[in-house]
Amino acid sequence: MPARTTTPVPVANPGVAPVSMLPGVGPALAQSLGRIGLNTVQDLWFHLPLRYEDRTTIAAIGDLHHGEQVQFEGVVTNVERGFRFRPQLKVALADDNGDAIVLRFFHFHRSQVEQLKVGTRLLCFGEVRQVGFGLEVIHPQYTRVESDIELAVEERLTPIYPTGEGLGPKRLASVIGKALALLPTDDSIELLPRALLEPLQMAPLRDALMYVHRPPPDTDLLRLEQGRHPMQRRLAFEELLTQHLTLRRMRAQVKARRAPKLGRGRVLAERLLASLPFSLTGAQQRVAGEIADDLKRGHPMLRLVQGDVGSGKTIVAALAALTAVESGYQVALMAPTELLAEQHLRNFRAWLEPLGLEVQWLAGKVQGRARKAALERTAGGAHVVVGTHALMQEGVVFDKLGLVIVDEQHRFGVHQRLALRDKGAEGDMVPHQLVLTATPIPRTLAMSAYADLDVSSIDELPPGRTPVVTVAVSSARREEVIERIRVACAEGRQVYWVCTLIEESEQLNAQAAEVAHADLTAALVGVTVALIHGRMKPKEKQATMDAFKAGSIAVLVATTVIEVGVDVPNASLMVIENAERLGLAQLHQLRGRVGRGSVLSNCVLLYRTPLSLLARERLQVMRQTSDGFRIAEKDLELRGPGEVLGTRQTGQLQFRIADLARDADMLPTVHEVGEQLLEGYPALAERLVTRWVGDAARYVHA
Ligand code: ADP
Ligand code: MG
Repeated sequence: MPARTTTPVPVANPGVAPVSMLPGVGPALAQSLGRIGLNTVQDLWFHLPLRYEDRTTIAAIGDLHHGEQVQFEGVVTNVERGFRFRPQLKVALADDNGDAIVLRFFHFHRSQVEQLKVGTRLLCFGEVRQVGFGLEVIHPQYTRVESDIELAVEERLTPIYPTGEGLGPKRLASVIGKALALLPTDDSIELLPRALLEPLQMAPLRDALMYVHRPPPDTDLLRLEQGRHPMQRRLAFEELLTQHLTLRRMRAQVKARRAPKLGRGRVLAERLLASLPFSLTGAQQRVAGEIADDLKRGHPMLRLVQGDVGSGKTIVAALAALTAVESGYQVALMAPTELLAEQHLRNFRAWLEPLGLEVQWLAGKVQGRARKAALERTAGGAHVVVGTHALMQEGVVFDKLGLVIVDEQHRFGVHQRLALRDKGAEGDMVPHQLVLTATPIPRTLAMSAYADLDVSSIDELPPGRTPVVTVAVSSARREEVIERIRVACAEGRQVYWVCTLIEESEQLNAQAAEVAHADLTAALVGVTVALIHGRMKPKEKQATMDAFKAGSIAVLVATTVIEVGVDVPNASLMVIENAERLGLAQLHQLRGRVGRGSVLSNCVLLYRTPLSLLARERLQVMRQTSDGFRIAEKDLELRGPGEVLGTRQTGQLQFRIADLARDADMLPTVHEVGEQLLEGYPALAERLVTRWVGDAARYVHA
């Protein structure tokens, strides 16, 4: 093995060299780097800072303010070890002016205690908090200083990189520094052809990388912190482009496979339409037509149907199902919750059984002999199989699966969507895919997040719907609201009372709902109040929903299990408790359960004070509009795209530097350039994806 030299030997393309060729990177460090996907020198170039710390100055303690991230120095004046709730170390620090601040540690070593003696001088960095009249910093970074010489400040902002186990931030920053020394000074790392780049007037990639890793002292700090600096936008552009290309490629791969040609006849569909008490809206007809066109082709459909709550997506899906069935193929319909799946089951049975078709039920709770029978019918004979995640389980075998319908797709990861499709694949043949979502996605976002899907919008509500009148009421006026329920019930209206204590815990929600149920039962003498929550048996839930639908229950106390799908047109008043805790999308979904009939509906958002600014804004939006698209735009603004799309966990939208909401203005250009790149320079597109997405691209193909 050649001896390591401190000045690396120039390599033709240093980017592809392994990290171990950098001076000071031994096998152990290389392994730690590899664990977070940093294998080559180029990986280090593209490992971008999450944020910056300003250690270019040392602030006087007297000038510190709550919420600031700053560097300061001082001498330890007092050390206290205490046990308030848990062991802690309290170190008082004072500077030359006599101003004091407290450093508080909850985890500490004995060696630390020994080090932090009275009289020790420290240079610290951390976020300042105002506690009572004093200032404190929890777990500051600090170093001991012996003399003024050591108080030298950094010349530029300190980049903070995402790091992993066994990889200290300083060490990582230093390795990245070594990699940057190998960054070619010419434009050889540029993958975007000049012809495409020049009209965009963007900085060369090399300059952008250097700037973001090593911002100069005179940088526009505010813009940099917001990620809006032109150099950052240069990189964000390339990353968005890469993401777009990845999704496009995934789509192309699917489209290249074969799918059954569906559309032999329209007899069943016509018979269903003739049996309905309504006719389709223009939007429903248009979308149904778009689907029918897709199904006729010999390649898999990949279509997302978005339509606001109550826009009538189910019937459109049923028509697609009939097209598949009439061509001799089976259909699977998957929904994220049992309640929603059951609702679909009921609809599909009511519509399809009179046509002589079999609709099979398959959910996780179907067990034992019933499960065996369900599996048998799924493997041979059932025309349509409706269920939950259980449809994807092992042991489920379909019979000529031609169409997969997934409702509320954003709750499923991309993986799950693909898993169900692959289950029905036979050789080169894959089923068509129809995805339904009630979460209207802002257009720009949809174009990016669903670049692998064609999007159809049902942008018209069935006639006769009256908008829901929404008010926000403090929980202090709960009695008044209950009085209002009494009046509504006396008029023959039905009411939802939704408990939303804690979003993540259906158990605690169920308890809260039980309390509310007892409360309301006591307060509303002579009114039937019932309870429904996710921890009840499906049969009980079903019986309760049926009774509510039939009108024999006047007030239904529920958890957010009713958020999606539940359809009882006579229910015209909804009270949402602790509405301030919910996000806009969820509030909109819930409210969509009323306003389904022709009577005027009301929604009461009960909130507890004090309201956060964000909560106040959300309630305001809910009062002002019932337009799902406007609400989605607002939601995007308030929460960011990861959460709006619900894909956070799947990692699909994890960007290094781009932010779909912040950088949305670049998307049209991204799509244009993507188009040109694929057409003129497909090999470069491929390299771009490898550079930015690397290994992660593999699972997107799954
Ligand atoms: P969503 O899009 O929220 O899933 P649904 O498919 O559940 O909406 O439809 C909501 C209600 O509207 C259902 O009761 C359905 O039967 C009814 N509906 C659907 N299409 C029409 C239409 N064109 N005219 C009248 N009612 C309709
Ligand atoms: Mg629906």
